[in-house]
Amino acid sequence: MTALTMTEVTLTYPDGASRLTALDQASLSVDRGELVALVGPSGSGKSSLLAVAATLITPDSGDVVVDGVDVAELGKSARSALRRDRLGIVFQQPNLIGSLTALDQLTVAASLGDRSRRATQVEARELMDRVGLAGQEDRLPAQLSGGQQQRVNIARALMGSPALLLVDEPTSALDHERGAAVMELLRQVTDERNVGTVLVTHDTGHLRSDDRVVECIDGRLSERSPALA
Ligand code: ADP
Ligand code: MG
Repeated sequence: MTALTMTEVTLTYPDGASRLTALDQASLSVDRGELVALVGPSGSGKSSLLAVAATLITPDSGDVVVDGVDVAELGKSARSALRRDRLGIVFQQPNLIGSLTALDQLTVAASLGDRSRRATQVEARELMDRVGLAGQEDRLPAQLSGGQQQRVNIARALMGSPALLLVDEPTSALDHERGAAVMELLRQVTDERNVGTVLVTHDTGHLRSDDRVVECIDGRLSERSPALA
């Protein structure tokens, strides 16, 4: 099952009198259970690709299919439902809510849906445990380290068993060791939870020789083996 298929996606932004091309005929397919590391220089279009896959930006042309659903056919509310039900998004900054405990960060969005409160609590506790934060459920963000906050962020994105996980530079604020541990956690949850993961990183030191690596240069994508890094 394919988590994400992008076909010849072109995205431009207004740039003075002309347009800046952020994605240039970009095609990418990610299966469930597969992790793709998206690398490339700053400004090459990596975050733009995630925003298109996240259905937050509509491209100028090309097709985007998330978990079998053609995004172009969806209206605004159907897109937000798709994001809620099938997508997990982890941005660079954890964006945790300062007044909420770690556990509540996970349950607050889910409690807006129609699942039972109990099922949501059970899932949140399981995920906290899975990301190595058992016992930290009642802490506020200020009481957690940067690495722990990023783990809460990842656990929150996994609530509701998304088909597709989009992660933007999760290790950029972490030291090497903590960054490596977050990378390993992402590989493991990709496999265990059968989620397709697109992971933007410029930290190629965290890549393993068996990671699938796609390089973005000037909005164009190409498959690359990490051995060539
Ligand atoms: P990356 O994540 O690889 O650093 P981005 O996707 O953020 O790259 O940016 C790709 C290009 O698009 C860059 O030239 C950037 O300046 C430009 N860009 C990104 N977002 C916007 C925006 N909202 N409006 C205009 N230009 C943008
Ligand atoms: Mg970026």
